[in-house]
Amino acid sequence: MTDKVSRFLRDAQPATPCLVLDVDRIEENYRRLQAALPAARIYYAVKANPAAPILDRLVSLGSSFDAASYEEVQMCLASGAEPAKISYGNTVKKERAIKAAFDQGVRMFAFDSIEELEKLARAAPGAQVYCRILVGNVGAEWPLSKKFGCEVDMAKDLMIRAGELGLDPYGISFHVGSQQVRTEAYEAAIAKVGMLFTDLKQAGVNVRMVNLGGGYPVRYRSEVPEIGAFGDAIMGAMVEAFGNALPELVVEPGRFIAGDAGVIAAEVVLVSRKEQDDPVRWVYLDIGRFGGLAETEGEAIKYVFRTPHDGEADGPVTIAGPTCDSTDTLYEKSNYRLPNKLVAGDRIEILATGAYTTTYASQRFNGFAPLGEHYI
Ligand SMILES: *Cc1c(COP(=O)(O)O)cnc(C)c1O
Repeated sequence: MTDKVSRFLRDAQPATPCLVLDVDRIEENYRRLQAALPAARIYYAVKANPAAPILDRLVSLGSSFDAASYEEVQMCLASGAEPAKISYGNTVKKERAIKAAFDQGVRMFAFDSIEELEKLARAAPGAQVYCRILVGNVGAEWPLSKKFGCEVDMAKDLMIRAGELGLDPYGISFHVGSQQVRTEAYEAAIAKVGMLFTDLKQAGVNVRMVNLGGGYPVRYRSEVPEIGAFGDAIMGAMVEAFGNALPELVVEPGRFIAGDAGVIAAEVVLVSRKEQDDPVRWVYLDIGRFGGLAETEGEAIKYVFRTPHDGEADGPVTIAGPTCDSTDTLYEKSNYRLPNKLVAGDRIEILATGAYTTTYASQRFNGFAPLGEHYI
């Protein structure tokens, strides 16, 4: 938690639950990533947190943007992003959304199927397109599985077809899965892209960009490698695959930029037990799976909790949200422990919650308002 955030929490005592995010930290993270990968252009994955103060700051730093929808394209434009710096990176788009983005000047689009490519040829003639391939997601705490991307053989045919359809077959992308803690995941994916580039060049395709996607991790309960380790692994693999004919490089960080810039302030609503001598207490918070902590599904992302009694005797807990839905249980199997003194009314903080929280919050499920937001 940055000093600015802890001062705001102490002085303003904002109503909970709410996210407090330090926009200066967004800038630091952007600069850290740029220093770790100076050869890459940064396209912030807007879906991680699309708040205007974040987009405004990134525009002022010269960032580019990865938008998942036409609505996100509009948010970037409203913050002053040039259309030439926006990539429409979702491989699943309505044709009229493609056309709307194209009409606004967006010229870079992702695809992973012939059906999507044909939409692009009709609605965004001549645009730069890049094909997403399937790569291993081992090591990712929030994997993206098979939903996006195609096999390399298909990617090769589609890139050739893109040229025939009057599009510019610009590049290849992949995503190693979010909160990826293994640098090797990028190395393996880059080797795969290198071979595909060779095949495409032989087929006469003018492919010239590699989009490394997102995945760069932030620290939750466990230590993760430094961003420099990812930069070194990526550049090593790029040189191995491409020699000194390096293509243009694009990265699409979401979590890494916004995650550790924010803290959620919450309140303990109830501490109870299921039987008198049960060693496990149930701790119910005023935020849960439906209040923005969607990434606790499957206990995938393990957030760190700060309480007013840290450092004192603790015991095992199950942590749950406030709604009347039993899936609104955050952690049951991940061996969480909280102080024995914790009582209803205590204010707690959930660290590194700046990404993938506010936009995941439901609209008044059980009557609860969506997560409050403060950008400072
Ligand atoms: C979600 C997403 C990202 C951002 O991923 P992070 O793991 O948050 O860095 C980047 N690119 C694409 C295409 C995405 O869908």
